[in-house]
Amino acid sequence: MNDITMIQAKNVYYYYKAMSENAENVEAINGIDLEIKKGEFLVLLGRNGSGKSTLCRLFNALLKPRTGTVFVNGMDTLNDENTWLIRKDVGMVFQNPDNQIVGNVVEEDVAFGPENLGVPPEEIRKRVDRSLKTVGMSDFALYAPHRLSGGQKQKVAIAGILAMEPQCIILDEATSMLDPWGRKEVLDVLLDLNKNRGITVIHVTHHMEEACLADRVAVVDNGKIIAEGTPAEIFSDVERIKGMGLDVPQVTEVFYKLNKKGYKFPNDILTVDEALKVIMENLAVNRIGNRN
Ligand code: ADP
Ligand code: MG
Repeated sequence: MNDITMIQAKNVYYYYKAMSENAENVEAINGIDLEIKKGEFLVLLGRNGSGKSTLCRLFNALLKPRTGTVFVNGMDTLNDENTWLIRKDVGMVFQNPDNQIVGNVVEEDVAFGPENLGVPPEEIRKRVDRSLKTVGMSDFALYAPHRLSGGQKQKVAIAGILAMEPQCIILDEATSMLDPWGRKEVLDVLLDLNKNRGITVIHVTHHMEEACLADRVAVVDNGKIIAEGTPAEIFSDVERIKGMGLDVPQVTEVFYKLNKKGYKFPNDILTVDEALKVIMENLAVNRIGNRN
């Protein structure tokens, strides 16, 4: 490990203890090795129950490995003395926007984290203003949270984490209850934090279009990582991805079907813009005049 590593999981196993004497322990993570670099945007995919949430909780010391180690910014999560610093470095946003807002007013809610960290009041004020500005919610500082849309609530949750000045944000299906507009709002914020502020992002999602925005995608299945690569590498093998119980981006699916009909398009086209380029090249022969 070195100073460019944000999170390093080595040979990690985790089981949930059985609820009763007769029941068996639930093996949730079954030998995971993963290194996440500072500034990376990683998407975790996997069917329900594959272990994604457990892995996220292991990444910010909400859970401790039963076997193996997780290091966050060089700190071993097994050492309880590190827990507080790790939680400060790695913030988590969860699925349900309504369960994570604690304040009666947006700015109160954003102040909650730094208050708990013992940050002085004048510094909290600055951080709250800065964080709300970063997520584009300054105008809502005095709103009651229940007046906000789902996407706006998730942006407030992200602001609350930013106010603790983390190096890494984990979003565990944080866009799954949002409508397309809310998802876009949140993704725009994430991309800004990642590209312009160097914050490491770990995003668990079922939306393949969101996965296409990542630097790297890892697929979790039965507590293991069964595939890992750039979005293009991951989605180019459509049959393999479907075999893992996952979808591919719609654009990729169209070209996959065309190729099955005998066309010879690249198999790693992920976005509308990439598709447009390839289609225009192929349609050039049909073009009339100088239309753009
Ligand atoms: P995912 O987030 O990919 O849906 P989870 O990490 O939530 O997967 O779950 C992985 C496995 O652990 C599943 O079999 C799930 O039923 C089990 N599990 C998750 N949370 C608990 C818990 N608190 N107690 C017992 N088993 C759990
Ligand atoms: Mg989950």
